[in-house]
Amino acid sequence: LFLIARMKVKRVVLASRPGIFGEPVPENFRLEEVSLSEELHDGHILARTLYLSVDPYLRCQMDDTGMEGVPSWKIGGVLDSNGIGVVEKSKTNGFTAGDIVSSFNWPWQTQCIFDGKVLQKMDPSLVNGQLSHFLGAVGTTGLTAYLGMKEKGHVTPGANQTLVISGAAGACGSLAGQIGRIQGCSRVVGICGTDEKCSFLINELGFDCALNYKKKNLASKLKECCPNGVDLYFDNVGGTISDMVISQMNQNGHVILCGQISQYNKDMCHPPPPPPQTEAILKERNITRDRFLLFNYTDQYQSGIQQLSQWLKTGQIKAKETIVQGIENTAGAFLSMMTGGNIGKQIVKISE
Ligand code: NDP
Repeated sequence: LFLIARMKVKRVVLASRPGIFGEPVPENFRLEEVSLSEELHDGHILARTLYLSVDPYLRCQMDDTGMEGVPSWKIGGVLDSNGIGVVEKSKTNGFTAGDIVSSFNWPWQTQCIFDGKVLQKMDPSLVNGQLSHFLGAVGTTGLTAYLGMKEKGHVTPGANQTLVISGAAGACGSLAGQIGRIQGCSRVVGICGTDEKCSFLINELGFDCALNYKKKNLASKLKECCPNGVDLYFDNVGGTISDMVISQMNQNGHVILCGQISQYNKDMCHPPPPPPQTEAILKERNITRDRFLLFNYTDQYQSGIQQLSQWLKTGQIKAKETIVQGIENTAGAFLSMMTGGNIGKQIVKISE
């Protein structure tokens, strides 16, 4: 007779749903401490969680409707998101202790047992050893900004294009602006929720202009920032901000429809249709507004990651992060990100 070792883990489960018109609150989440068997079956590995990502789309998983491609979370079930960890024990060929691994469905749990098939081995040299960047600039966030601009942005170098970005100081937005500049936009303008974020965009990322949408006269200030009108609009937020930006767009412009975070606490289809007035402008001015969905471009992930890694290493893009520590702060980090508490990518550091 031999005893199977047990490990104590902490994890975050869904305690309740915010409801289709509700703002998510701390009470929707619960921290648990449980004891799990460490027994590893063939093909499995035990990994320690290093970093978790918190993302706007998780809001859709909190309700029982879910969203295409991302199913609804179960009440009482462990939550999950993009994560990075280190292998502690392996019974799978190709993985050994010390390997850095990632999954798009990493449980919000301090240690996890995975089927090796769902894990991807990561090369730390791509991020100069700063592993959290695999969840940000050199991960799905960076890919969203890069491939969104590449596939839907229609940047034409030398054409003197003005690019406006909403949610500009967030994870995707802060990268999309920098990438738009690299690709050849002549003017990059950001819209975000605080003056501190505006200074960050201008002073640290080199945006030409940045506007706080919580202040008065946003429309006239945007006009001042964009004397030649708006050619490209990378839309992270939707709602009235986007209607205002689109009203200042030029003939044959392009909206990169990335996300609509201002609508995520409402019972809306994704993406919600624009109001008739905005719809009419899009039609009259021949402006494209194609939805960008990262998951439709899996064939470009590898080349995209190489490109992002190179830009990060050469300093052509700066990858700002807001990091909080501890599994017990994961839900709080999500709630904070949803209400603008982050600059750059919101990361939760779970262990060293
Ligand atoms: P961010 O890091 O940008 O964080 C979200 C930000 O949204 C907050 O910091 C806040 O900044 C802003 N925000 C929150 N509520 C509102 C509101 N009502 N009006 C305006 N701004 C608001 O998150 P991500 O970079 O991860 O995601 C950005 C967008 O990209 C989201 O819409 C997301 O769904 C989308 N996305 C789409 C993907 C795709 O494949 N199409 C893939 C990944 C993300 P502030 O202080 O400025 O208000």
